[in-house]
Amino acid sequence: MTLSSPFVFMGGTFDPVHNGHLRTALEIRQWLDVPEVCLIPSKVPVHREAPGCTSEQRLEMVRLAVAGEPALTADAREILSDQPSYSLLTLESLREELGPGKSLCMVMGMDAYLTLPGWHRWERFLDLCHIVVVARPGYDYRPEEHMRRLTDQHAARSAQALKSSPCGYVLIHELTPLGISATQVRQLITRGESPRYLLPDPVWEYIQTNKLYGFQ
Ligand code: ATP
Ligand code: MG
Repeated sequence: MTLSSPFVFMGGTFDPVHNGHLRTALEIRQWLDVPEVCLIPSKVPVHREAPGCTSEQRLEMVRLAVAGEPALTADAREILSDQPSYSLLTLESLREELGPGKSLCMVMGMDAYLTLPGWHRWERFLDLCHIVVVARPGYDYRPEEHMRRLTDQHAARSAQALKSSPCGYVLIHELTPLGISATQVRQLITRGESPRYLLPDPVWEYIQTNKLYGFQ
């Protein structure tokens, strides 16, 4: 049985990163008892990029958000990659770095988990990592049949299971969900209202300085 500390990461567009992401990552770190959780912003194809912000700016905001917290890190591999931003490629690249025996955990919110069947070659994910699903306000676990079967088949009984094998488990974890979304943050800014306290101050300052999301 391998019992080394898992590599835990959370992907997302982080457009922008907010306290819902950061608090979730920190609680997962505590719960899994790992040294750190890594945030990996995804690259959005340029033609699909929201006009308010570039991929490099999203990465910069994630870097600012984790700068003062040793338990959280940022990884630029997706943004810097010239390949399409597929989670599968990220998982393969992490797996290659970590080696076959190390536990790799991908954290995602329930909303993201429920859309998994639409992701590129998602059936392969559990050959490469464990999936930790966190509850999120407004999203109940009501999967379609295929997802429900997959979740049941791969269900881990405890966090310990995620440490005892490199991949293959799904674990749904209830933690303190904060009802914050990047959509809400963007809407506030566009309307000329303050998003302060929903995201770290350095990120809010960066948004104002660079006039992102229509900030005037
Ligand atoms: P948007 O509103 O633009 O979709 P978002 O707030 O959902 O943004 P994403 O970058 O889409 O942020 O999310 C990245 C990951 O973080 C996803 O797995 C998502 O489920 C999770 N997540 C986002 N907000 C929260 C939150 N408040 N609590 C827990 N998980 C969250
Ligand atoms: Mg989202």
